[in-house]
Amino acid sequence: MISFDLHTHTVYCDGKNSPEEMVRAALAKGMTCLGFSGHGYAPYDTDCCMSVEGAAAYRAEIAALKEKYAGRIRILCGVEQDYWSDGSTTPYEYVIGSVHYIKKDGEMLCVDNTPEIARLAVDQFFGGDWYTYAEAYFETVSDVVNKTKCDIIGHFDLVSKFNEKERLFDESHPRYVAAWRAALDRLLPCGKPFEVNTGAMSRGWRTAPYPGAEMIAYIRDHGGRLILSSDSHSAKTIRHAFDRYEDALGESLIRNVEEVL
Ligand SMILES: [Zn+2]
Ligand SMILES: [Zn+2]
Repeated sequence: MISFDLHTHTVYCDGKNSPEEMVRAALAKGMTCLGFSGHGYAPYDTDCCMSVEGAAAYRAEIAALKEKYAGRIRILCGVEQDYWSDGSTTPYEYVIGSVHYIKKDGEMLCVDNTPEIARLAVDQFFGGDWYTYAEAYFETVSDVVNKTKCDIIGHFDLVSKFNEKERLFDESHPRYVAAWRAALDRLLPCGKPFEVNTGAMSRGWRTAPYPGAEMIAYIRDHGGRLILSSDSHSAKTIRHAFDRYEDALGESLIRNVEEVL
């Protein structure tokens, strides 16, 4: 069984539980390693991200938990760094690089807040064209390793979060496919693993993980690596649905956390 999960959030950012509650839940699930990945400070997103002082307290609390639980579970202090954040990632043991915003005409447009906010952005800044919006998103994603120097590429196609049953756009549309392929063609040579992220499943937005099945196939066909993560915002969703994907992902799936760190 995959007994590590490196993508989790706590009350220090937009999660529901304390770090220690997360550790106890991970122990109860028989896990050997839990990584915290609080949203690093971003001035344009103070609601969801840690403050500068909050991030220092987060690191101190996780350092204390490492000692307290030593020998029982390995605890790692990471960060989920948004593409547009210029905060330092030096104090962290690993970095998940994620794009949550598209920058357009000087505005920061959040792609994963609510369907209404996404639709408004498409209407106001992209003339109602979801494909132009997706192209802007994937162009940003294509640069995420370069910009954030991440160890793991977060939720590659987050732009599809509200598109269950393709209610907003057609994911087989040639422009959509060309946009994600171009991003993968630029990211694959970086050699960083792509998350198979079950966060939108546990929160009821999607019935399958990010990235979509065709993207996963493309990554595997081109020698890319995959890492399961839950993007948990509560203790009960740690390691969510990992068992469903563990076998199916075969050799491409990272099974030893040492391969990432
Ligand atoms: Zn994220
Ligand atoms: Zn996250």
